[in-house]
Amino acid sequence: MDDEDLEDSVSFLSIAAIVILLIVGVVVGSKRAIQSLPSKPKPIERETFETGVFCPYCGTRNTEYAIYCTKCGKKIREQG
Ligand SMILES: [Zn+2]
Repeated sequence: MDDEDLEDSVSFLSIAAIVILLIVGVVVGSKRAIQSLPSKPKPIERETFETGVFCPYCGTRNTEYAIYCTKCGKKIREQG
């Protein structure tokens, strides 16, 4: 008789523990998802911006090793 009561309380506790773990996991997971959204890095664009060369004629951003502007075709860098 006492054994049945014990089993009931144990199963209830284990279910409650699982539910709490699920809730905590969802809350932590959503917090991480929100935090990771705004600080998404764009390494390729940043690298192009830091090493790129702006055309003095039309202002187009070209790659670091560009000799002629990709938009207007003017010489933006001395060869060699
Ligand atoms: Zn240009």
